[in-house]
Amino acid sequence: MNKKTMTLAFVAGVGMMSSCTKQLRSGIDLSNLDTEVKVGDDFYQYATGGWQKAHPLTAEYSRFGSFDVLQENNNKQLRDIIEGVAKQENKQGSIEQKIASLYNSAMDSAYLNEHGMDDLVTFLACDGYRSSEETTAQWLADVWPRMQRQGVGGMFGFYITADEKDAKNNILYVVQGGLTLGQKDYYVDEDAETRKIRDAYRKYIEDLSRHAGFGEEDVQRISDDVMRIETYLAQNSKSMTELRDPEANYNKLTYAELKEQFAGIDWDAYFQNFGISGLKEVIVGQPQAIHAAEHVLAGESAEALQNYYLWHAINMAADYVDDESRALGFAFWGGVMSGKQEDRPRWKRAVSSVEEGLGEALGQLYVAKHFPPAAKERMVQLVRNLQVALGERIDVQDWMSDETKKVAHEKLDAFYVKVGYPDEWTDYSSLEIGDSYLDNILACNEWAIKQNIEKHLNKPVDRNEWFMTPQTVNAYYNPTTNEICFPAGILQPPFFDMEADDAFNYGAIGVVIGHEMTHGFDDQGSQYDKEGNLRQWWSAEDRQRFEQRIQVMREYHDSIEVLPGLKSNGTLTLGENMADHGGLMVAFQAFENATAEHPLKNIDGFTPEQRFFLAYANVWGQNIREEEIRKRQKSDPHSLGKWRVNGQMPHMDAWYEAFGITESDPMFIPKEKRVTIW
Ligand SMILES: [Zn+2]
Repeated sequence: MNKKTMTLAFVAGVGMMSSCTKQLRSGIDLSNLDTEVKVGDDFYQYATGGWQKAHPLTAEYSRFGSFDVLQENNNKQLRDIIEGVAKQENKQGSIEQKIASLYNSAMDSAYLNEHGMDDLVTFLACDGYRSSEETTAQWLADVWPRMQRQGVGGMFGFYITADEKDAKNNILYVVQGGLTLGQKDYYVDEDAETRKIRDAYRKYIEDLSRHAGFGEEDVQRISDDVMRIETYLAQNSKSMTELRDPEANYNKLTYAELKEQFAGIDWDAYFQNFGISGLKEVIVGQPQAIHAAEHVLAGESAEALQNYYLWHAINMAADYVDDESRALGFAFWGGVMSGKQEDRPRWKRAVSSVEEGLGEALGQLYVAKHFPPAAKERMVQLVRNLQVALGERIDVQDWMSDETKKVAHEKLDAFYVKVGYPDEWTDYSSLEIGDSYLDNILACNEWAIKQNIEKHLNKPVDRNEWFMTPQTVNAYYNPTTNEICFPAGILQPPFFDMEADDAFNYGAIGVVIGHEMTHGFDDQGSQYDKEGNLRQWWSAEDRQRFEQRIQVMREYHDSIEVLPGLKSNGTLTLGENMADHGGLMVAFQAFENATAEHPLKNIDGFTPEQRFFLAYANVWGQNIREEEIRKRQKSDPHSLGKWRVNGQMPHMDAWYEAFGITESDPMFIPKEKRVTIW
């Protein structure tokens, strides 16, 4: 997966808002509103307060929004498909057999609780654990390479995707990794909340290692070794914000240079383990982090390294064995990290496993049942209208020179648009699925890594590959292929409603389309040309004027308090905030174009323009826990639902006009302080 792909939202979990269809003509559900609040006081609360009240957080969720209603519905549709397949006689080796077997293995709690730990012990292959230095060395030489092929992460990672400066061809990227907690912030921040998470993490390492059968002394050593090594790697890793600078994360080397500059790693052996040979060039994303891995390899004892790797294996496998392991994992990941009170039911986890392991196989069955061809036609038309509108927005900008405008138009015309599902489906014939849940997951991991290598290594980029499955409730822009993609899963209410008028559809899915398009011109996307190459195509003066404008967005969001004393990170969320702004501007223009000759009427007491903004806000209705806000403040490039609305409206002149907002309204900001990019 290309790490730079920019999505609409971080979505964790999947339904159709049947209540939306109550009023077919406007698409706006009046019960979603909270009319006690004034629009200019808090538009988000006005537009979504009713929805929030009607959808209180259940124990299972740390955040629940309109997205999740859709996700819940998709989950049920997927479960019906899978259980239908599981009931029938399936030919061994068929896609149906694989889907059914994977799902059944995840659902078989009796097997998991009886044999789950046996599967884990076989996987860890550490019978001779600490019996001698020799067995440790043997384990590192034999078992650890096998685990890496099965998807257990080490101190760094690799993937093969488009070369950012030669976007027609794939290349291998060596990238930082090795942090169980994901972000470096968790290891280096010293605020009380982060320290609490760190302490809980250590306890989680100890609890799960103990449960996996290690003695008390070993448990202590494992947690000491893991904390020390991960902290060191974190200190030498880049933050999410630093990873947003594509130039700074692009260091192309010949393979000989890689071996010479990072001599502490046996690259030949490392790649050979994955069946990779004949590398000529690679890109090292974060050299300092790879040097840190060398340092760890050189300085730590074999036993400490084994402990570190064992922990990564145990943590990865915990979800797929007995209930106690899963409960320990949930207590930390769901409870401490997100504030969830209850794990997802087993069937949802089972659907997710099929989704992750056999996504396109499931997608093929999903679109046949749930994606009408008429929806695709209307979407394709909407995308075209948005493309025209973005072209018009480019033309009217006074900060962009004619020359840059010309190139921007070329990039816009070159967008590769994907709607619904891929033309060609992934072939799963070489993947074998049997009865053990853990073995199935490992087989899926190993197969996916192999696929990434076989399909991409030393090969040109295939633009027809999809980075999301069709049933996904999300959308993306990928800069190296200059493509925008709208999977079938998102083309449902509250995003897209075949029965609703244009005010609704332009405000909801229209903004999503515009959002993905303007990613092509955000702080990151604007650094890639129409061919997808990382190359400066703006004049220096234009770039400077652009930077001044995005600085307004950055500072505005830096000033937002997401919790008392905790500010939003305007740099981390810059690209997404710009895409929301661009999406709103472009979709509004497209909406005006589409209805210029046949203006829409007022419905349900709202003008068409008001309905446009209400439809937009409704997409972001959500409830969220404090822990989840803290987590996203560190890791999510998207603003919180509230701020995707209240952080955007004050920058939209059309919103002031639609609702008659004036200086006396708290949400008002003077014109000269508004973002003016699109
Ligand atoms: Zn986005």
